[in-house]
Parts: sequence; structure tokens; C-alpha cells
Amino acid sequence: MQRNYYQEQIETMPPEQLRALQSEKLVKQVKHVYDHVPYYRDLMDQKGVRPEDIHGVEDLHKLPFLTKNDLRDTYPYGMLAVPLADCVRIQSTSGTTGKRVIAYYTQHDIDLWEDCCARAIMAAGGTREDVVQVCYGYGLFTGGPGLNGGSHKVGSLTLPMSSGNTERQIQFMMDLKATILCCTPSYAAYLGESLKERGYKPQDNALKAGIFGAEPWTEEMRRDIEKSLGIKAYDIYGLTETSGPGVAFECEEQKGMHINEDHFIAEIIDPDTGEVLPEGSRGELVFTSLDKEAFPLLRYRTRDICVLSRKKCSCGRTHVRMSKPMGRSDDMMIIRGVNVFPSQIETVLLNEGYAPNYRIEVDRVNNSDTLDVYVELTPDQFSDTVSAITAKERALAGAIKTMLGINPVVHLVPPKSIERSEGKAVRVVDKRKLHD
Ligand code: ADP
Ligand code: ZN
Repeated sequence: MQRNYYQEQIETMPPEQLRALQSEKLVKQVKHVYDHVPYYRDLMDQKGVRPEDIHGVEDLHKLPFLTKNDLRDTYPYGMLAVPLADCVRIQSTSGTTGKRVIAYYTQHDIDLWEDCCARAIMAAGGTREDVVQVCYGYGLFTGGPGLNGGSHKVGSLTLPMSSGNTERQIQFMMDLKATILCCTPSYAAYLGESLKERGYKPQDNALKAGIFGAEPWTEEMRRDIEKSLGIKAYDIYGLTETSGPGVAFECEEQKGMHINEDHFIAEIIDPDTGEVLPEGSRGELVFTSLDKEAFPLLRYRTRDICVLSRKKCSCGRTHVRMSKPMGRSDDMMIIRGVNVFPSQIETVLLNEGYAPNYRIEVDRVNNSDTLDVYVELTPDQFSDTVSAITAKERALAGAIKTMLGINPVVHLVPPKSIERSEGKAVRVVDKRKLHD
């Protein structure tokens, strides 16, 4: 079978050789950072570690961590490792969890980032014959520019749609026969719903694959999107701090995302103690960027919780795979003492036959946490009698209780009453934070 690699030699490099390459790059990168980023130099000095102490990947654990707070404290220029005149672009985080962070890029940084996105597109079956519709946001958000650049590198015809304007998305998708769709999974689900409303069947579009990421999504959501659009849906992961999407991507095997290890070293740590955990443990993902010139973060704590696997992959790629992050450590809610990820609730909803349109509200009443889940009925379900709907609410509450161990109040609401997302979906309203 013809394999679809963008940089075959690197993507299939034997693991020992890959590790040697990482070590060589790490030694140089640590020196680059120590020499040019006073903030990180201070952190290293405080820890009593010098660039000469780092001989390879085995010494990585000696280096201090960086957190999003460090990046906020050093805003706007504190992490810059090259003269500003060498930078050609900035991008910025979506600000999902607070003040935005700015990342800087040299032309070389952009080139390598786009290579990573090109790897992802080819792993999803992309070629120069494809028509790639990019409806991630363009601008400060990394989604649009990243996939746009990757699509150019593959040589595909790129439709730089940006997010929103669903009418126009559908018109271009159908008229220009887009074959690969790139957007957030929540927007892909919305496009599927909108196509159906306009009378299109899944086989009416020319799409064969979708590359969806930038927010957590479940396997159930994947199946839902695959069915409604008639495609194979691939996951892509990244964050602004490490360049953007394309840090990791799925191959046809779809058992985790290959992390581009020639550019990033991944570690899993215990989020409470910072201790590095062995392969196969669930914990917080930490990245060290090996090639970035302008914004070279060492041991950056992503707060994303996942598992790494070095099991051989049938696609031939040798780079380590990360499991779908369940959500960030700070997405996790503690409700009546129980740890709850929104993705767990999503799994139950989709398994019970509901569409992925929901909102979770957490509050505190009389010193006790409350959990309300608002779920949209599909138009067919909406015609049910009141007593049938009440019975459904009870059944769904029971299924969520089985998953989480706590009782929610479920509200089934009319079709279209929950706002659709064009970018990253905001599913949780934690009112306790407003009171505290
Ligand atoms: P912000 O931190 O403001 O959301 P970014 O736009 O850089 O800024 O988002 C990066 C974050 O998005 C990641 O740390 C991760 O939590 C989430 N993310 C990105 N891709 C995925 C994915 N495929 N699955 C789950 N979460 C993802
Ligand atoms: Zn693979």
C-alpha cells in the first residue's frame, strides 16, 4: 500500500536515531535559551542547573518547568529569544482560560510549523489533488494560518474560509467540491446538522476526511460527525505556545496522535508533584520545543491530561503517540467532591442518542454543589408528549449518574435553543466561580 508521508525519512526514523537527534538538538536549544532569555536563565540558576549539565534527553528532568503564568508574567516580550527584527509574525492563544498569551515566530519557525500541519494533512490522506476547506479562524488564532500553510505545502487547493458564515461554507463546500474539511469538531457537527437541514445527504458532498482539533472531543462525537458528513474524522492537537496545531496528529490507525518528536520532546508528569511518570501513565503533558528560534519553551506544562504510548504503529511512523486529551486539568470540575470532565458527560449524551448540543451549569446552593445539564432535543424527539420527555430526562439523569456517581438535573430543551459554536465551544458555566 502506498503510504502518505510528508517527510518519510523523519516520520519513520528508527527510535534510537530519533532520540539521538533530540539529544543533539536539546543541548543546543538549552544553550540558546540560557543565553537569550533572562527569565529562564534565572529559573535555571535558581535550580542550580547550567547548560553544560544537559548532555541529552536523559538530563531533561533537571530543567525547571514553565507554566502559562510564567508566560503571562513575562508578557509581551519576556520569552523572546531572538531580536524582534528577526520575527515575522505573532499568534495568540484563544484566551480560553484567562489572559491571552502571545507567541513569536521567525520565518524558519513558521516553516517548521507548516511542515507539521502538512504531515497531518497527508496522514489524513491529503494530496495535491485535494481541495482543503479551512474553516478554523484566521487571524490571531493559530488554527487557520497553521492548516492553511500545511495545505499549501502539500500542494492542495486551499479554501481560506475562516470561521463562521455557514451559508457560504456550504456553498463553497458543494460548488468547489471540497474533499478535506478542517475546523473544530463542534463546528463540524454544526455543519453536518446544517447540511441535513438543507436537504443534503452525507453522500452528496465530496468530502472524504476531516481534520478536527483545538478542543476536546470524544469518540462518540467522532462517530457522530463521521456519520453526518460521510467522512473519516482525524484528530489534530496543538497549542499556541508550541507553535499551533500539528504538534500531534492522527494517522489512519487512529489509536492516538503521533507527536512530531523531531521538533518536540514530550513528557508526562504528575500534575501535583511534578514527578516524571513512566510510559503508559495518565498525567499532564509537558513539551520542550527543540527547533523553535523565537519562542523556544523548555518543559512547558500544557495542563492537558493524557497518556503516551510507544507501541509500534501500523502506519510505519515511529513517533510516540498521545491519547486524546480528556480536557485540561483546569477544565476538570470538582462537584460534590467528585472529579468531572465535560467530555464524560458528552460521552453519555451521544451514547443515549442525543446530538452534541449541550450546556453544563454548576452552581452552589445552600453550600451544596448543583449540576444542571441542558440538552437539546432533536426535532423528532421534540414531538414527544410532556410525560415522555420527563421520562427521558429521568433516564438521561440516571445514565449520567452511572458515569459520574453524582445526580444531575437534566433539562431537555427545544431544538436550536443552545447556541452553536463556530470556533471553540464553551460548554460549561461554573457559577460557583462568580460567587467565590
Ligand atoms: P487556549 O489555551 O487559550 O485555548 P490555544 O488556542 O492555543 O489557546 O489552545 C490550545 C489548547 O486547546 C490545548 O492546550 C488543548 O487544551 C486544546 N486542544 C487543542 N487541540 C486539541 C485536541 N485535538 N483535543 C483536545 N484538546 C485540544
Ligand atoms: Zn500511526
